[in-house]
Order: sequence, then structure tokens, then C-alpha cells
Amino acid sequence: MGEPGLKSGWDVGRLIALALGFAVVGLSAVRGADIADAEKLLRTGKYAECEKLAADEVASGEASARWWELKVRAEIARGKYDEAGKTIAAGRAKYPNDLPFHLLAHEVYRTSGREKEAKEVLAAVQTQIDDRRATTDAERLALGRYLLESGTDAKAVLDKFFLPVIKQSPDYLDAHLATAELALTKHDRGFAAEILQKAPKGAADSPRFHFLMARAFADDDRERATKAIADALAINPHHADSLLFRVDHLVTAEDYTAAEATLKAVLDVDPGEPRAWAYRAAIANLKADPTGEKEARTKALARWEANPQVDHLIGRKLSQDYRFKEGAAYQRLSLEKEPKYLPAKAQLAQDLLRLGEEKEGWKLAAEVFATDGYDVVAHNLVSLRDHLAKFRTITADGFLVRMDEMEADLYGPRAVAVLQRARKVLGEKYGVKLDGVVTVEIFPKNQDFAVRTFGMPGAAGFLGVCFGPVITVNSPASQGRDPSNWEAVLWHEFCHTITLHKTRNKMPRWLSEGISVYEESQENPGWGRWMTPKYREMVLGDDLTPLSKLTSAFMNAKSALHVQFAYFESAMAVEFLIKRFGFDTLKGTLDDIGKGMPVNEALERRTGAALTKLDSEFEKYARDKAKATAPDATWDQVDLPDNADSTAIRAWLEKNPKNFWGQQRLCARLVREEKWTDAEKESQALRAMYPEYVGPTNAYELLAANYRKTGKAKEEAAALGEWAKREGDATAAYQRLVELNEAAGDWPAAADNARRWFAVNPLTQAPHRALAKAAEKSNARDEAIAANRAVLRFGVPDAADVRYRLAVLLEQNGERDKAKREVLKALEDAPRSREAHELLLKLVGTTDPPKPEKKP
Ligand SMILES: [Zn+2]
Repeated sequence: MGEPGLKSGWDVGRLIALALGFAVVGLSAVRGADIADAEKLLRTGKYAECEKLAADEVASGEASARWWELKVRAEIARGKYDEAGKTIAAGRAKYPNDLPFHLLAHEVYRTSGREKEAKEVLAAVQTQIDDRRATTDAERLALGRYLLESGTDAKAVLDKFFLPVIKQSPDYLDAHLATAELALTKHDRGFAAEILQKAPKGAADSPRFHFLMARAFADDDRERATKAIADALAINPHHADSLLFRVDHLVTAEDYTAAEATLKAVLDVDPGEPRAWAYRAAIANLKADPTGEKEARTKALARWEANPQVDHLIGRKLSQDYRFKEGAAYQRLSLEKEPKYLPAKAQLAQDLLRLGEEKEGWKLAAEVFATDGYDVVAHNLVSLRDHLAKFRTITADGFLVRMDEMEADLYGPRAVAVLQRARKVLGEKYGVKLDGVVTVEIFPKNQDFAVRTFGMPGAAGFLGVCFGPVITVNSPASQGRDPSNWEAVLWHEFCHTITLHKTRNKMPRWLSEGISVYEESQENPGWGRWMTPKYREMVLGDDLTPLSKLTSAFMNAKSALHVQFAYFESAMAVEFLIKRFGFDTLKGTLDDIGKGMPVNEALERRTGAALTKLDSEFEKYARDKAKATAPDATWDQVDLPDNADSTAIRAWLEKNPKNFWGQQRLCARLVREEKWTDAEKESQALRAMYPEYVGPTNAYELLAANYRKTGKAKEEAAALGEWAKREGDATAAYQRLVELNEAAGDWPAAADNARRWFAVNPLTQAPHRALAKAAEKSNARDEAIAANRAVLRFGVPDAADVRYRLAVLLEQNGERDKAKREVLKALEDAPRSREAHELLLKLVGTTDPPKPEKKP
């Protein structure tokens, strides 16, 4: 395996050979008990005490190189790089052959910008290596770390340095930590967790172990990660990595006050900690404070001018807050400092892909992958590009839509039509004129969606994500049996494009989501979110987050339900703002945010109300709304056996009057007992109690079942119509409505309901067939042609028949050549079809009049 990019010019092959041919040499004779005490001081953050103890030991002249190393580590933990430099100089003179010490020296010099000294150390180590025949575990780890730092292929370091040490010395904690850390750098969280879980017993005392554990679980198990960081900080309250991990989350949650306090704790110990200053710079940017941003960045680079991590970190935080343009600019700064710095390159690739600058984005992703075959994100992106290459691209005015071939045939044009309507309606409403093309990618495989969106597979629960000019969507194919209304998803995501553009990507998450969900319900009352019994309970209980802190409802959500509730509550907050202060106030707030004003300041300015007042008014609004939902109902759970009959349920209801669940249970039971008159009466009572309820076993469904059994088609259609109006994913209602409309000969209604059905699942034939028929009968010829073509895409057994009908429609539309083609194909399958022959005769000898060429 090659080791490209090694900067020092070492003979790496030789290094690896040496490492492989090592013999076990025990740690040099150290005064065990004492050094363990000193190590504990370091581990628990008592840096000054550790430094003192080590200094005394070093002064005695007897100390091993490990004591010197500890002294250096204690010094740099507090940012005392000058002292560390002196310790290193003296230590190197005393231990000219100690590889770990020299490599630590190199690292300290390098990361404090002392390039000349760093080079000197390397030169010395190189000679030393040439003279040696074996290395210890500690030496091999140190070498591995060094090689990684110098750009050696990570997989090679893992396989040839770290893993053999773990195998040889399973109780050597440092080897586990180094391996897990390497895996995490390459986004291989699963492997990191696996290695950490196999770490020896003593790991529990190491803050570094808990910190790495937190990183391994950060995305998949937030609670576990939070606990791990708490464990790390319980051992060492000054553990900079763990404190910064906390800061990272707090910045994402837009809790800048808490983030600043935590940063202060880091800087109190090491006033020059570059990452802490980088976070400060990012926060300053997010708070629209360019002077603060510049100052903090200068301090972050004070220790080491060429540190590529600083700009990379600032940029990454900005991108996490959707400031992709600014984020990308920072990654470019980082790469100016160190053109080979892969984290910046990988992040820039993702930023560009999110900005729709695909050419450069894909090129960079390929470069990262070529340099580093282990980086999981780069690997994912490169294989995603191969999948995307097979997609069909539909270009339409202002849009570039990529879809799977089959899906493009089935609903591509319709998706484009929804997007174009959204562009017009929402653009006008919010006063936004988009300048560029919006890219929309619809993925049949959740895995591809997740990689395109987050760089990693997984991330269940997202229907779509909008980055501004780029939207990614999970197609119905990836959503199992009950997909969501994809038209609503496109509307929602495109609304983000509008509001992100208006605020120049500066809006807080809650407001962005709140407006998108609100706009769904404005476009179609069945889209958006309704007050479910659970939401009602949460609003009236302790789950309401104050309006001024709504972003934290997303970031600190305790469960998937709480995330859903955060969307619901945000939409309610937007509704409140519009109802209370008018739509123009909301629009003005977005303008202010776009100019860099923090949301809460903008809200106060535009509404003229103090934040505390807004919070209390919104709380009242939300609670009133919840109280007005099923206001007379009670909510105790029904404690009856499953087979309780209607008499038993009625008896229970007498003791629990107006109980929604009891009433629902009674209705369902009455239907089952076929007591139609009673069932109708009670279902009407259920509907009156809570008309918004369209969850499982709703009143509309119960009434429809009743009317179906009793042959009251008109009443059945009315009940289903009520349901269909309120629920965007009610396929059962749409399907039955189509049947009823067809039977009643109401073709426009049948077409409407087929369209609703199709907006949920365009990947089965039934809605296309229904639409083909209804559109034909109601003279919506283009739609009927498209629907028949979609039916054919399923490879149906009655293709000849469908083609004939298609040919008729095409002929009526004046598209004679196309009609001829279809009728000929129909005759291939059914040569005896008389009507097809007749149509062909009619078409023979005639051709379409020449049409002007369409521009490409
Ligand atoms: Zn959204």
C-alpha cells in the first residue's frame, strides 16, 4: 500500500517494517507508584500539581523520559508553550534516543508554529530510527500518530501500527484510544464504538475514553453522548476536548450564552487554546459581530499562524448553521494554509454540493477519497455520485430535478409542476425573486438520500432537507407502505428555499420549520400538522418551549415525538405571530434577520412587544388553542377488556362521561356489532366532540364504514370527503372516493381524488389508472395521456388496450404520429383488435403538421 503525501521525506516502508519487526521491550524502569500519581493528576485536570511533581522529579536528575513527557503535557495543557519548549530542549539532550518524547516534541513545536525546531526534531529522530531495530508499544503508537499527522494513509497506520498493538497488548488503553480517535476522524463511528467497548478496565478512569465515547455516539444516541461527556468532566472538570464538545452542541442549539460560559472555562486554563477562540469567532459571526469574529480568529491563530484547523472549525460551525457560503470561504482559507488538510477539503466538498456547485464539489470529494480511502464520508459521496449518474435530469424553468428513471416517468412532470407553483405562490407572498436554478434530488433509497444530505447513511425520520438552492427528498419508494404526501414535502422544502434566501440563510431553525409547516397548511388544509391528542396533552403539560427559545426544542428533543412536537409548536408560533401582529410583521422580521439581526431582537423590534410578553402571549395562545380542541372531552384511558361489548362500554362511559377514547371505542364496537343506527348517532357525537381528529379510527372513517354497509353512497362520500379534506395522507379515503365518484359518474371529482391519491403514492398503478379514466372522461386530455403512459410503465398485461386508448387521446390531441406509433404497438400485442385497425386506417396517410423546433 502506498503512503502518499508524506511530508517529511521519511522512508515509510522502512518505518513500517521496523514497526512490524518489533520486539517487546518493557517500559523503561520508572518509579511506578510516583509516576502513576503524576499521571492521575494530569488525567484529573490538576495540571499545576502535575507540573510541580514532574518538575521536582526532573530536577532530581533521576527521572525517566516519561516524567519529562508528563511535564511537557502538564505545561501545554495550560498553554505554557515557552516552558514546554525549554523542557523539551533539556529533555531531548538528556534522552537523545527516546522516540515518543521526540515525537511529542515535534508535535508541540509544530502546533505552536515553531517550524524550524519541529524540522530539527524530525531530522534527529530519523537518524535515531535508522539505528534502532525494535520499538515498544508506546513507540509504535507515537510513530503511528506522527505518520497520520504527516498524511500517511490512515488505513495503513491502523493496520500496521495501532491494531497490532491492541492485539499484542489488549490491556494497553492508549492503543484503544488512539485507534478510536483515528476511526472517528474518518467518520467510522461504528468501529470507534466497537474498539472503545473493548477497552481495558482502567478506561473508566480516563476522561479521554469518555470523550471519545461521546463522539462515537454523538449522532445516534444523544443522551448517551451527553452522559459520556458528563462522565469525562466528572473525572477532569478542565478537560478541554470535552468542554469544547459541549460548546459545539451549544452553538448548534444557538445557546450562545451557555457556549460562552463553557469557552471561558477552557480559556481560564489555556488562554490561547486555538479551538476555543475559533468557536468564539464562529459565535461572533452568527451574532453578526464581524469585529469580534476577526479578533477571535486572530487570537486563535496567535499560537500557530498556519494552523489549518482554526478556519476549518469556524467554517464547519457556520455550515452547520446553514451559512454554506461563508463556511466554504473559511474552508478555502484553511486550505490556503495547508493545501493537503483533508478535513477542510472534505467539508468544502460538502458545502459546495449543498450550494449546488456540483462540479467542484464532486471533484473535491473524489480527491479526498483518492488521498484517503478510509474516510467514510468521502467514500459515501463517491459511491453516491455513481448512483446519481443513473438518475434522469429534468430541467424546467428555474429547476433542475434529478429522479430515478422510473419515478421520473411516473411523477416527474407533476413534481416539476408543484415546484413551479410553489415558486410562484411563495415567491410572491414573501417577496422573493430567486435568481438561480434550484436543484431538487429525489432519492428512492434512504441511504443515498442520507449520504447526499448528511454525508452518512442512517438519519431516519427525514422526508426532505433544504439547503437553500439544493433540496433533497426521500421518494415514496423509501418510505414503506404508508408514504407521506410528496407534494406536501416539496412544498415544505421549497418554502425553506424561499425563506432561507430571504434571510440569507440566517434564520433560526424553528422559524424556518415553523413557516414551512405553516405554509403547507395554507396551501392545503390537509397538509401541515393538526392538534393530535398527544400534542394537545403536551401543550397543556410541561412540553411547551418558550417562543424565544424554540430552536432548543429541536436540538434538545428528548425523543422522536418531541422533535415532531417542535415542528408543530414552531408552526403554531408562526401562526400566532401572523394572527396577532399581521403577516407583514413576520415578513419584516425576516428582513431584519437577513440583515444580521438576531431573531429575538428582530421580533421585539417588529412586533413592538418585549420578548417576555411575546413568550407569555404565545404560551396563552397555544394553551387556549389546545383547550379549544375537543373542549368538552375527557382523556382517561379505557380500562376495559379488549372484547368488551357496546353495553359494557356504554356503562363505562356513564361513569366517564365525554371520554374521547371511550366514545371512539363505543363507535368502533357498534360498527362491529352492526348496530348501524346507534353507530351513526354515536359516530356523529364523536365527530362533534373533536372534528379535527383524523387519526386512526376517526369519526369520518367510522361513518363512512357505516354508510357503505347501509348503502348510503352519498352520505359515505360526504364523510370521506370531510376526512380527505383534513388529511393529506388518507389514501384509503381517496381510493374509496374515486370508486364512489366513478359510480356516480362525477368524473371531475374522481379526477380530483385520484390526484390526491397520486400525491401520496405515485408508485403503484391504481391511482394512475383512476386518473387516466377520470381525466379522459372529464376532457383533461393531457393529463389522461400522461396517466396512460404511467400505467404502461408498470408493464401491465392489458397494455394493448391501454395503448389503444392512449392512441385515441393522442389523435384527439392532434398528435397523429404519436398516435400512430401507439396504435401500431397495440396491434403488435393484439393483432385482431378491430377498433385499433379502424383507428389506424383513420391515421394512415396523415402526418402531423411540421412543428417549430423546440430549443434545447
Ligand atoms: Zn423543514
